[in-house]
Amino acid sequence: MESTLRRTWAEINLDAIAYNYKKIREKIGPNVKFLGVVKADAYGHGSIQVGQLLEDIGADYLAVSSADEALELRVNGIKMPILILGHTPKEQVGRLIEYNITQAITCKAKADEYSAEALKCGGKLKVHIKVDTGMSRLGYLCDNGYFDTGVEGIVEACNMPGLEAEGIFTHFAVSDEHGPENDKYTKHQFELFINVINSVEEKLGRKFSIRHCANTGATVRFPETYLDMVRPGLLLYGYGEFAKEMGLKPAMTMKTTVSTIKIYPAGNAISYGGIFVTDKTTRIGVVPYGYADGFLRCLSNKCSLYTKEGPAKQVGKICMDMCMIDITDMPSVDVGSEVEIFGEKNSIDELSEIAGTIPYELTCAVSKRVPRVYYRDGKVVEKELMLRM
Ligand SMILES: *Cc1c(COP(=O)(O)O)cnc(C)c1O
Repeated sequence: MESTLRRTWAEINLDAIAYNYKKIREKIGPNVKFLGVVKADAYGHGSIQVGQLLEDIGADYLAVSSADEALELRVNGIKMPILILGHTPKEQVGRLIEYNITQAITCKAKADEYSAEALKCGGKLKVHIKVDTGMSRLGYLCDNGYFDTGVEGIVEACNMPGLEAEGIFTHFAVSDEHGPENDKYTKHQFELFINVINSVEEKLGRKFSIRHCANTGATVRFPETYLDMVRPGLLLYGYGEFAKEMGLKPAMTMKTTVSTIKIYPAGNAISYGGIFVTDKTTRIGVVPYGYADGFLRCLSNKCSLYTKEGPAKQVGKICMDMCMIDITDMPSVDVGSEVEIFGEKNSIDELSEIAGTIPYELTCAVSKRVPRVYYRDGKVVEKELMLRM
């Protein structure tokens, strides 16, 4: 671990996540539950560490994408409720029951096979019913003439002997996009969701204990959608315009060091393809951060990395394991100097905008080769090398 630490590392500030959690809690009030989305290894931050933190500070639920992600949390001691948002093969139902993991039910075929499998295992699978109100991805289709069949299918699932329907949820498609058309779409999704819930509850003669739909965009912009629980991901990690608006803190800072410095004459092409050619005597630093670490190659020659003397232009194509920066006018930047790739000084929001993508993609791209260093109460509490050694 120590041997790789001075190459390139990601500092994960758990205090920032705890701070963001507290701020979101203040916003949603005491009567709304908090589900932290920790799928995709908590958006690259480490789902075990983030999950443990959220359990410690009183969050109500976690959500992941797959059974493997859920079991990873359980095996590592996390006891709080966990919801699997995505697909689980029916062969895993016994394990979900054994480990007390909640599964999303997304259609009749899934309800049928999960219930049958649960009965075979002699148990009941705890589920949340997913309603498709306009995301057009997973869930019982209830929009555009499918209301009655949708409700009927959900009622049927709730009455299946192998399933225990604890919750019901839907997902917004454009809650984070501005403009009246988008707001109208979200409102329509929400109203439809409410109508589905009312109709199902009336037919069942009982109520769902947890109704939820608010992702990051809705948590910030549409308080009327909170219902029993909010379900933010990106907001918790402190990225994007809504985090900025709420004064939240980015949790990940990616750092590297200058490994080599060379001085080239004018007219010298740098890196693959020669897309950058020096126009004067140029001092170039090589930093060990490439696309295999999570840098997006489409950022080549378009972004800056942050040195102690300010932003240094990244020049030439980004390679698999390294890239180059222009430090001609930064005499104090030397071999071994720290460089911030993104974090508090070099905003990941700006980098992702230059790349034509969203911050989610940049933190999820940070590969297992990059060790994570965890800070809590301002101190290093763990260093995780994700390579198998
Ligand atoms: C990923 C995801 C979320 C969290 O989305 P953010 O935009 O990060 O807040 C919430 N709900 C579902 C179903 C998801 O897949």
